[in-house]
Amino acid sequence: MSGFSTPAILLRRIEHGDYDLIVTFLTRDRGKVSVMAKNAKKSRKRFTGLLEPFTALNVVCRSTRGGSMPILQEASMQEPFANIRAGAVKTLYAAYWSELLHGWMEEGKPQQRVYRLLYYALGALDQDLSGPAEMSIIFQMRFLTIAGLAPELEACGICRTKLDEIPAHSVIFDLEKGGIVCNGCAADTDRTRLRISKGTIKQLSWIRENDIRAVGRLRFTGSAVKEGLAAMEAFLPYYLGRRPRSLRVIAQMRGW
Ligand SMILES: [Zn+2]
Repeated sequence: MSGFSTPAILLRRIEHGDYDLIVTFLTRDRGKVSVMAKNAKKSRKRFTGLLEPFTALNVVCRSTRGGSMPILQEASMQEPFANIRAGAVKTLYAAYWSELLHGWMEEGKPQQRVYRLLYYALGALDQDLSGPAEMSIIFQMRFLTIAGLAPELEACGICRTKLDEIPAHSVIFDLEKGGIVCNGCAADTDRTRLRISKGTIKQLSWIRENDIRAVGRLRFTGSAVKEGLAAMEAFLPYYLGRRPRSLRVIAQMRGW
């Protein structure tokens, strides 16, 4: 009997018939993997308290013949991250990150950096190391970098003037151009764009380049949070091609 075991974070679970659940994990060793959890819906004893959103588990799965879905054999708790589910705002952000990864990752392609990023971000949320909005900026910026989609933040994407040499307090964050554009160049265009202070742009660059533990301790001003979220939450859907449903719920909650 062939199979595999790996650390895994639960991204999504859906009901399958009267008894079973289909559970999608972000695993450390195999990337995104969907498995069948037999009787997990009907019998509360099987996998009790384990198959909750955002839990980090160690799972053992059995491969099936003919390429159908592997069967979840055993699961044990690594980190419950139960504090996240105790708070509505934290739950919304964690659901957004899960939806992003569920939608973006391909089945069976290992992405250990993404796994470590999600694990860190969930832990920080669970332990209140940083506010949920701040952690969401960090998560999205690091995720974009790993995915090779990071925005250009060093210089104007049109005339190449360096950020520090642009004579203004703010620049335009231009989705189509994939990063910042100076005010002079932006005047000639009519694109989807946001105005962002140079301070916030520098903070986003810093998030991309430094150790995640140092980044997790970063403090943001109120306006940097707002600008950072606006930039990331516009940029990601633009490049992924759709707006995650959970992002709409978050926007409703915030009222902007
Ligand atoms: Zn320019």
